[in-house]
Amino acid sequence: MALRKVRVMGDEVLNQVCKEVKEITPRTQMLIEDMLDTMYESNGVGLAAPQVGVLKRIVVIDVSENGDEPILMINPKILETSGEQTGSEGCLSVPGKAGNVTRPNYVKAMAYDENMEPFEIEGTELLARAICHELDHLDGKLYVDLVEGPLQDVDAEE
Ligand code: ZN
Repeated sequence: MALRKVRVMGDEVLNQVCKEVKEITPRTQMLIEDMLDTMYESNGVGLAAPQVGVLKRIVVIDVSENGDEPILMINPKILETSGEQTGSEGCLSVPGKAGNVTRPNYVKAMAYDENMEPFEIEGTELLARAICHELDHLDGKLYVDLVEGPLQDVDAEE
């Protein structure tokens, strides 16, 4: 298990557009494993490669209760959205803060898996929110720009 340092807001790597992944190298495989380890260790529901300082279009997500349903999305694209949900959102790159963000309530997306095979995924509620949040990271966007009202302080132990 290898953890990577999570970059925090203010680090300009978080504001850049990431590059498409062309092939899975051993280095990419290691990055993916480290991203999963780092996400689980930080109790996050998602992590994007730029958050660990790598400008590649890779995200990992796990919204399951037990943290045993990892989703890997390489070069992801949103195909369809519908509905609306407003709820509290946080980010490992903005520690100790949360704020209300409105997102689609349903998202259909496509991405490539660890073998560069394309797949589609549909999600509602938290999964839809996580997909939108993580994909924004790949375009250098943070949720704080979408927050309605002030950012709130949250107890880091929560
Ligand atoms: Zn985030």
